[in-house]
Amino acid sequence: MSSAVSQPESPPGSCALAVVGGGIVGLAVARELIARNPRASVCVLERETDIATHQTGHNSGVIHSGLYYEPGSLKARLCVQGARELYEYCAQRAIANERCGKVIVATDARELARLDELERRGAANGVEGVRRIDAAGIEELEPHARGIAGLHSPGTGIVDFAAVARAYGEDIVEAGGAVATGCDVRAVTLARRSLRITHSRGTIEARHGVFCAGAWADRMAVAAGAEADPRIVPFRGAYLRLVPERRHLVRSLIYPVPDPSLPFLGAHLPKGIDGEVLIGPTALLAGARDAYRLATVRRRDLLETLAWPGTWRLLRRFWATGATELHHAALRSAFVRAAARYVPALEPRDVEPSFAGVRAQALWRDGRLVEDFVFSQTERALHVRNAPSPAATSSLAIARHVAEEVERAFGLRP
Ligand SMILES: Cc1cc2nc3c(=O)[nH]c(=O)nc-3n(C[C@H](O)[C@H](O)[C@H](O)COP(=O)(O)OP(=O)(O)OC[C@H]3O[C@@H](n4cnc5c(N)ncnc54)[C@H](O)[C@@H]3O)c2cc1C
Repeated sequence: MSSAVSQPESPPGSCALAVVGGGIVGLAVARELIARNPRASVCVLERETDIATHQTGHNSGVIHSGLYYEPGSLKARLCVQGARELYEYCAQRAIANERCGKVIVATDARELARLDELERRGAANGVEGVRRIDAAGIEELEPHARGIAGLHSPGTGIVDFAAVARAYGEDIVEAGGAVATGCDVRAVTLARRSLRITHSRGTIEARHGVFCAGAWADRMAVAAGAEADPRIVPFRGAYLRLVPERRHLVRSLIYPVPDPSLPFLGAHLPKGIDGEVLIGPTALLAGARDAYRLATVRRRDLLETLAWPGTWRLLRRFWATGATELHHAALRSAFVRAAARYVPALEPRDVEPSFAGVRAQALWRDGRLVEDFVFSQTERALHVRNAPSPAATSSLAIARHVAEEVERAFGLRP
């Protein structure tokens, strides 16, 4: 993935606002900060040699409408606002996207109560156009899908989030900010009037910092003096893709009814903006925070996951679900069978392996998954501690929320 963002020769030695993490959230935050404080120097520090290489570059590419989330939560509010703003932004910047709609399919009467709850949440969250459909309605929208009832969300869409992140990066540079890659932040110390951020290419003295480090968010927060709770526990999500001759089985986005306690589980079938149709992702506890390959295991990552009491409490609670996920990850045919519950024509020979992503899932010490977006504060710094899906969809709204928090916490005036 090559970036159109022109990099500074060397990262600046000081700035007013440093943003750590060049994923879609960090870039959106830096873009918003610079727009509100045009005279302040803003610098993004990214560890990799390019931006958008972690979660932002490895996901389903779905612009969520805001249907799933608990009314009143940050996810509900920022997703609905963020999706609207993202469509507008893509139109302004000519970024390919499609408001193709999504069908959620119930195949079993036991799922109907959950479908009711999703419909209620959609209405409470102000998601436009959501409607209940019957078996015939499902087939009208998705001729190869079968179910007893469904929900249609016409506002759901698709985009390449890495392309969106690169456009944010260009906006930052155009507005006079810096995006410095190859800067692995290793230490954060408090100086008298600044935050001293030591990275692999030097040190930057920043008046304030915003940390948007995705799967490494807990480490950065602890380095800056925050609590260890919640910890990031990585889950690897592998995708399959339909072979080109079978892509016609899916017109847009077909989803199962989510389990409210583990909403990110369940094989869905999203069409990509590049025309590919994916099946996935699986969800398997990973041996590294960058386990794009199954065999990647990092000692520190693994030890931190295993030493966290929340991991064991989660596993005790969801061991049966964990076993199913393991089965799906190990056996391609089992995963395809799970998707064939609502697209019966699907067969194992219709698929081939595709890419994997690693979900940065924050987990409380007591084993509860952190469901909502979480932000916290240390002296001179603000931390994005949990920004899983739909954070890519919500990035512009998250950025505004974070910028307002920065202004409130540090007394900055736009
Ligand atoms: C499998 C999967 C499917 C998903 N599907 C969707 C979807 O369809 N729609 C949706 O809205 N969301 C989806 N998401 C969620 C979405 O991808 C993430 O919420 C979003 O990309 C988070 O962005 P981020 O900037 O916080 O994290 P990242 O993109 O992970 O960026 C964090 C950055 O911080 C950098 N960093 C970390 N530590 C340091 C350090 N010490 N020094 C310098 N830099 C550092 C990293 O290198 C990285 O570039 C999905 C996620 C996954 C994993």
